[in-house]
Amino acid sequence: MDNDSLFSELYSKIEELPVIDCHEHMVGPKDMVSIREPIASLISGYIQSDLLSAGISQKELDILNDNSIDTEKKWDIFKRFWEQVQFTAYARVTKFIMKDIYGEEDISLESLVRIKGKVLQPTKETYDSLLNGANIKLILSDVLWDLDTLKKFIEGKLSYYSRIKFLFSLPMFHRDVRSFDFIQRVGALLDRHITSLDDYLEVVYALIKRAKEMGVVGIKDQSAYTRSLDYGLVTRCEAETLFNRILSDPRISLGWPEAKPLDDYLFHQFMNFARELKLPVQLHTGHMAGIRNRIEKTNAILLSNILELYQDVNFDLFHGNWPYIGEILFLAKNYPNVYIDFCWVNIIDPIYSEELYCRALLTVPYTKVNGFGGDYFDVPEYIVSHLKIARKNMTRALVKLIKMRWIDEESAVEIARNWLFENPKRLFNLEV
Ligand SMILES: [Zn+2]
Repeated sequence: MDNDSLFSELYSKIEELPVIDCHEHMVGPKDMVSIREPIASLISGYIQSDLLSAGISQKELDILNDNSIDTEKKWDIFKRFWEQVQFTAYARVTKFIMKDIYGEEDISLESLVRIKGKVLQPTKETYDSLLNGANIKLILSDVLWDLDTLKKFIEGKLSYYSRIKFLFSLPMFHRDVRSFDFIQRVGALLDRHITSLDDYLEVVYALIKRAKEMGVVGIKDQSAYTRSLDYGLVTRCEAETLFNRILSDPRISLGWPEAKPLDDYLFHQFMNFARELKLPVQLHTGHMAGIRNRIEKTNAILLSNILELYQDVNFDLFHGNWPYIGEILFLAKNYPNVYIDFCWVNIIDPIYSEELYCRALLTVPYTKVNGFGGDYFDVPEYIVSHLKIARKNMTRALVKLIKMRWIDEESAVEIARNWLFENPKRLFNLEV
């Protein structure tokens, strides 16, 4: 069979497989919806980073994002930058939305004007029909990232979409421990006034435990945006000295990197909590959203000490550690508690993802690969278009391995089923 027909045959099977979406920032449908202007709606995703990379100014981007400005008035700005980014994988998501959702073959002023008034609304019907169509059974979502949202959740007052399972969002509990006020706000979630490091640790443990009782299925941390993943082993004395300095005077706040030892110490303690509470930990590694950040601080290889110390904690490492492919393959091969998570990377770099699927199969047990996560906010049309790209990347990788006579077609479908569904189901202990 030639490559094209093998691809089509395998893709048609992989397209049908059920999916657990391993990472979104989604709460669910909204009741109140405003009119969405076509260009604003079509650039709601990561494509904004590519537009910035092409040199669009923030002021011009604000114009494109403004729903109250007419498509015709934005067109000149949009056209100038769209032409430059039209071949990226982020742009491919936009093209798929235009074609699959609105039935438009190209992106032009005429086609954009035609879809005015037809732009999708984030209603429950939209969610249901798109997610059913893509066979997405469950979504792991990371939105509990401020104290108010967490409070609502643990008190059972946060309403959310039925297919969502939340993660406990960890960064603020170590990153933001810089002031008396923040520490007391954490304590207030459980009506506690914090007077020592022990008090603080007790409260955070109780919060994670409570969140687990309310349904969280893991812990999530994306501190790599603002600090290095090198979490040093720090003595309690060093951490407590910093913590006590904050408590000693509400007018004091710690700066960076002054606060790093305390941040490091707390992170290590929280990994112990993850072990005690039997919660897997999802960690951001590799590429970051937005522009002008630094990549070297996000390389998963910096986590080696954490991965070795907390052997009973399972770590789901995100974004294929893009662009550090060798390191992620080594970590997953070398440590039984390390999983490769393909969330977002399928549209950061499809060829890298194809290569990572391929090489992961040859080097790592196929049960330790979580094959898809959209990593979007509440925009379901982006998620299903992203999933289409992920399924194609995965299919190309498997076709290559069939052509190598490494696997047969039947195994290929079984591998894809594990990557998309069985592996995350088992790792996060999900009932589907
Ligand atoms: Zn994310």
